[in-house]
Amino acid sequence: MNDGDIPTDEVTGPWWEQTRQRRLTVQHCAVCGLAQLPPRLLCTGCGGERLALVAAGRRGIVDAYTVVHRAPTPGTAVPYTIARVRLVDGPILLTRLVGDFEPHCDQPVVLTWLPLPDGRALPAFTREL
Ligand SMILES: [Zn+2]
Repeated sequence: MNDGDIPTDEVTGPWWEQTRQRRLTVQHCAVCGLAQLPPRLLCTGCGGERLALVAAGRRGIVDAYTVVHRAPTPGTAVPYTIARVRLVDGPILLTRLVGDFEPHCDQPVVLTWLPLPDGRALPAFTREL
């Protein structure tokens, strides 16, 4: 993956713009109250269209993870850890675990950011101290 060339559209673009200020957001449904990620046109809970981005908490729990040892593209630094992190707000985010620690399932983790060349950033998680 070329981290500097993540495509967006009218649904995901506003979410990515928030990452410029290092704000992690989830899409909140005004009809049923569901919080979802990634951003979608419709609520996956009720099909409603009244969705808005709201600030997410900075903490989560490791749901599953795997360590990647073989670079998917030339130049990608390995190894790295990808994980499903369940946010305190409910949704699961496919993300990276960073920092020097051995992750395990159900481990509490806290948000950090991996800067992208264009000013946006990838949300990542690290061990909660
Ligand atoms: Zn809904």
